Amino acid sequence: MQITEQQWVDVQQTLRSKVGESDFKSWLATLNLDTNSPDTASVNLTAPTRFIRDFIDKNYGRAIRETFALTLNKAVDVSFVVKPILDPTPPKPKAAAVDAFNKLSMPLATNGVVSAPDVLEGSPLNRLYRFDTFITGQSNEFAFAAAKRIAESDTPVFNPFFLYGGVGLGKTHLMHAIGWSIKEAKPDRKVLYISAEKFLFRFINAIRNKSIMSFKEAFRAVDVLMIDDIQFIAGKESTQEEFFHTFNALVEMGKQVILTADRPPQKLDNIEERLKSRLGCGLTCEMHAPDFETRLAILQKKAASMKVNLPADVATLLADKIASNVRELEGALNRLVAHADFVAKPITVSFALEQLRDILAAGIKKVSVDDIQKAVTDHYRLQISDMHAARRLRSVARPRQVAMYLCKQLTTKSFPDIGRSFGGRDHTTVIHAVRTIEDLMAKDAQLAGDVRTLERTLTGR
Ligand code: ADP
Ligand code: MG
Repeated sequence: MQITEQQWVDVQQTLRSKVGESDFKSWLATLNLDTNSPDTASVNLTAPTRFIRDFIDKNYGRAIRETFALTLNKAVDVSFVVKPILDPTPPKPKAAAVDAFNKLSMPLATNGVVSAPDVLEGSPLNRLYRFDTFITGQSNEFAFAAAKRIAESDTPVFNPFFLYGGVGLGKTHLMHAIGWSIKEAKPDRKVLYISAEKFLFRFINAIRNKSIMSFKEAFRAVDVLMIDDIQFIAGKESTQEEFFHTFNALVEMGKQVILTADRPPQKLDNIEERLKSRLGCGLTCEMHAPDFETRLAILQKKAASMKVNLPADVATLLADKIASNVRELEGALNRLVAHADFVAKPITVSFALEQLRDILAAGIKKVSVDDIQKAVTDHYRLQISDMHAARRLRSVARPRQVAMYLCKQLTTKSFPDIGRSFGGRDHTTVIHAVRTIEDLMAKDAQLAGDVRTLERTLTGR
């Protein structure tokens, strides 16, 4: 089929508005029209690599075929073929592909959408976040078992189920897995998954439109309510109040409520005491950073699902160096796979070291907690014992927080590990310290300067 350049541009324009600018740039913009199509009823589109070709076909194939049919006013046979970019120097499309790869673990447009009452539109569940794609180990097996029990039970077993832990440790994944599992086993049960931010947004709208009654009513139709990242509700008084009532009503009606946050109920800032204690009265479960074996298993499973051959020594390197956050671990793998695919090189240890230099640098320089504590106490003229002691004096506490912050940035230690190295402090203290220093660095140039100097001294960069 001879289609004109103009028709191809029209198709591209339509696709661009369909999938959004950033997805278009990441994926569809890499497609080219092959002008020597074999016959009159077909269109060949070329993609630069096999991986991109498969990804586009799988995720956008239908949209592309529909768009062609609409633009040309007839059904066309669209095929995707691989046509490597002949001169990959400079490999320009890299950035786009990497970007696109990093999005692989985000919800895709093809997600199933949870049925929800009209007023309350939930958020879609990520199709990759299932029980069978969740790897368990010591760090998360309790949370996993509890999540499964909830998914399998008809009446609430623990209410609420409160899942907490640092970023990228699989809270959202487990929550979606519960949602999928219930949807599949009991399609008539209404599952509503919503981020706390969206909940807030809807709530504020309901107040503005004076539709707060129907907002509340809408919840009553829900059997399982899942709110993600409820730390965002903290400090917003009226929402908190409403959330509290909704939550109480649901629990009393025997409906399952599942919540996640980055910290336990007692540690939520600006949340009323009675709400805190109510939140903690079901099952509260912490998710920890996975241990080495679990990290390795996660990498291997992820590589297998991408049909990528990940050599054992490379997997070991990544699992060893990226210890505290599964999202980062996946991101590193995605990046590696995308780069290797683009420059058509095998994934080897030296390739990984080169490509992931920034991510791995912290681990490779092997800055230890001791180094950090020493550098910080030197800098602030304190004693090493001040790092372990219970003293709360600002002049000691602040440097200690700086040291904890640096441990998080420059080592691969988990929050609990760091806490232990600072006189057996709780991991939430460490999380708080990291956050405090991040906030302060934005406001306090002196402190930001101190931290940067220390970082430079420690890493030699
Ligand atoms: P959180 O909500 O705790 O910030 P997510 O649930 O978004 O973390 O997880 C971040 C990424 O890591 C997701 O892509 C998720 O699938 C993956 N992940 C986290 N834990 C596991 C695990 N135990 N097994 C497999 N994948 C995991
Ligand atoms: Mg999350």
